[in-house]
Order: sequence, then C-alpha cells, then structure tokens
Amino acid sequence: MNLNAVNRCIAVTATILLAVVFSPVSTVAQRYVDVEPAAEYREKGFVLDWLSNPDVQEKYGMMSDAIWSYAELGMQEFRSMKILTDDLEQNGFQVERGVSGMPTAFVATWGSGRPVVGLMAEYDALPGLSQQGDVPHQQPLVPGAPGHGCGHNQQGPAVIPAAVALKAAMEEFGIQGTIKVFGGPAEETLISRVYMARDHLFDDLDAVLANHGGSRLGTRYGVSGNAIFSTVFTFTGRTAHAASPWTARSAQDAVEIMNVAANYLREHLFYTNRLHYVIVDAGEAPNVVPDHASVWYFTRNTDDRVEEMHEKVINCARAAALATGTEMSYRVLSAAHQSRAPKSLAVLAQRNIELVGMPAWTEEEQAFAREMQRELGEEETGLPTEVERLRYWDPETTFTGGGSSDIAELQMQTANITVGIPGAVPGDVGHHWSRTAGNFGSATHKGIVTNAKVLAATLLDLLTMPEELQLVRDEFETQAAEHPYRTFLPEGTEPPIDLNKELMEKWRPLMEATYLPYPGMEIEH
Ligand SMILES: [Zn+2]
Repeated sequence: MNLNAVNRCIAVTATILLAVVFSPVSTVAQRYVDVEPAAEYREKGFVLDWLSNPDVQEKYGMMSDAIWSYAELGMQEFRSMKILTDDLEQNGFQVERGVSGMPTAFVATWGSGRPVVGLMAEYDALPGLSQQGDVPHQQPLVPGAPGHGCGHNQQGPAVIPAAVALKAAMEEFGIQGTIKVFGGPAEETLISRVYMARDHLFDDLDAVLANHGGSRLGTRYGVSGNAIFSTVFTFTGRTAHAASPWTARSAQDAVEIMNVAANYLREHLFYTNRLHYVIVDAGEAPNVVPDHASVWYFTRNTDDRVEEMHEKVINCARAAALATGTEMSYRVLSAAHQSRAPKSLAVLAQRNIELVGMPAWTEEEQAFAREMQRELGEEETGLPTEVERLRYWDPETTFTGGGSSDIAELQMQTANITVGIPGAVPGDVGHHWSRTAGNFGSATHKGIVTNAKVLAATLLDLLTMPEELQLVRDEFETQAAEHPYRTFLPEGTEPPIDLNKELMEKWRPLMEATYLPYPGMEIEH
C-alpha cells in the first residue's frame, strides 16, 4: 500500500481497534452455548414481512454501496451522515445533528414514553484501503485513497430499515415506546461514544443494539478487550543549522528518548498491557534541527490499570523534555473502557438469529467468495450457510490483553450487544483490501436485510415482553452497580473534530468520480 507517514500511522493503529469484536483470533478463550429459535408472533411476523419486501433490500443495498463509495474517514463523514439522516427524517424520525460537539454525530428519535430502545450505527472508513467492489484481487478504485475495509458502510443501511419496520409495527399494533437511532462517527479512532457517553446520551435507554459486518450472523457476550488512552505528545524545541547545533534543542531527540523510556517501562507493566506508538511529526531535513515533533500513543490495559499506566507514559514524556531542554504538551484524543455485553440481551438476539437464519446465496456469490479465498491462500469454503452459535468470553480464562472499542462507553450506560452482518468472505482480512471488496454488492445487501430482521425482532421482543426487558435491565443494573460509569477523559477534553480533515480534503476531489449514485445525493459543482 502506498501510504504517507500519517496515513500509515492511522492504518496501523486502526488495525488493532476492532479486533476484539469480530476477530477470529482472540486472546481470551471463547465458549459456546446453544439457544432455541425465538417464537414468531403476529407483530414479529409483520416486522419480518415488512423487511422481506424486495424494495427494502434494493434501497438499503444501494445506500450501503453509496456510503462504501464515499469512504469518509472518522470525523469527516459528512456525506455518509447526510444520506442516513435524510432517510431517517423522510421516515418520520426527528434528527438532531452535531451532538456532543461532533459535526458528524447524530441522534434520531421517534415515539414517546418507555421503553426506550436504541440502534447504533458507525460509518467511518479506513485510510489506504481503496478497492474495486466485487473484484477478488487487489485493485484500488483510487490508489492510496480511503476504503471501507471494516464494513461500517453497512451498519446504517441495516439499522435504519430495522428502526422503520419497528416503527411501522408500533403504529399498526399500538405498541408503546420510543426508538432512538444513534450515529457514532470515528469508531476506528475510538472517539464518538466516549464523548456521547460523557454527555449522558445513553442514560435513559433500556437497551441499544449495534451491528458489524463480517462473514457470520452471530453475537457474543461477556467482558472483553482492553481499556485505552489515545494521546498525542508534542515537543517544542529550538531550531538551528544542524552543523552548528549548540543553541538548538531537538524536539525529535525528545520523541526518541520518550520512546526509549516507554520501551523500558514496558517490561514492568502488568502483562495485560498493550503499548504502541507512531511518530507523526519529526522534522523535514537532516540539516535543520527539528523544533517540533509529535508521537501518538495508544496505552491499553484493564479498566483498573489503564489510568496508572497512562500516568507512567506521561512521565516518560516529561523525562524526555527534561533531558532535551524542550517543552512538552499532550492531548488526550480519547479514552475508553473495556467492553461489557450482557448475556440476557445476547440470548434474546441469538433466538432471533436462529429464527431468521442465513440468507440464500447465489452460485455467483459463492464463486466470488471461493475465488477470493483462493487469492488469499485460504480454504475454499465459500460463504457460510449456517448461523453462528452464541459465543461468550470465558471469565475463568487468563486475560492477556487485546483490542478496544469506544462502544464500551455506551455499554457502561445501557445494555448493548453487537449482531453480525453476514456477507463478507470467510478468511478475508479486516482492515485490508479484501474486506473492502467483500463489503460491497449483492451478498452484503442480503446481509443487511438479514441483520435488520434480527435487530428489529429483538427490539420488538423487548417492547412486547416485559419479563425479557426486566431480565436485561436487572443484569445491566447489577453490572452498573459493580462497575459504575465514569469517564476516563481528563476534564475539559474536547473531541478532535479536525482529525482526518486534511486527508479528506486531499482525497475527496479524487474520489468524487467514483461515487455511486443515490437519489438526493448528487454532487453540486
Ligand atoms: Zn469495524
């Protein structure tokens, strides 16, 4: 991949982020439980029929492909947010854009009173992962440009028809309650839900369902992954001719000393830690002593260890500034907890997963999957035809650290699980051209509708079966009592809304020619 330094740093760091949610490799043992399919009742039949209308798949498949073609990086998802929020408004939802100080975050609401159920969508892309859709070998659309290598293009187009179908059933059968649809930008850099939770946007919800693309239709529960601080350390020195450097103070030296100190610190951190950094700024030419340099750190550990670890890393930066005579400042971009998904909600969703089942794949879709598996050197199994069994992270197993997601912040304010969107090719690689290719086209359109059915049916269960809702609430309240919400963000921290701005200003004009059509989203010149 042809990436510049900043692109590369974001790509490398982003690669690790969502590993915890849908990676086939986990550092915590996963166990399985069997669940019986849900019963279908009148209201649920209505919702499933509503979503089975071929027009739904056509419309929201087209929307998913359009967002895929916009491939906007975190905090810059303006077109992606527009296509989603316009549709929610057309379907009678009241939309508030720019929540929690982030221009591309939104909340859409319909209905009144309790219960209050929610759906969560992300829509950010990844740098450097541009790829032709439905091409099973590496072939970028715009070389070097961003691409949807994590499938976030599918999330909103699955969440919206689920919300609209649920609304239709509530109107048809007089079911009481409120639906909220959340737009959470910049998941790949773990940002939006941290700030939305700090503003208590999820406090009044009974439960929120999220979704994520992959090859499987399934869900999981338990405590997983690591808490994280994302911090940029900046050093300011004094420049001079590097051949007469007596009066200079090198900011680059400070970055190097900080990294050496952090790498010695690593040995003495509890083994659940993960510590990684990229140098994002360090001078332009060897004969000019750099007077500015920055290094971006991800500091990860369990909830009870991450703050102390973050302090120790700050001390490495202080020591480097002292040693080099430079000034040090740092900015926390985000800070999130470990993930917590309740069993009761996962079981309810799994029953609906068993009820809905996998989509029927065409021979053409299977052939594409096998061709990509051959290209990647994977076993040529094609697309799966069975749903996944319910998985959980075994708390008895030794925890040895892992990835992070800012959805953890939502999980500290309400019950939440993630349901898979099938359609991607088994054996593909997350945050890689193969996932960008597999997140496009007819198989993913079927996956979107399948996922929407599970989401809508599960929320309907919560609205119509008070005993199920009570189980979910009781489990969440127990968790919240044991592990009450408080933000890790230092006081006064603002969301980094300028993140990726320059990158998108560079790429957007080059990408416009490859935007896919969608009604109302024409480009005005
Ligand atoms: Zn993702």
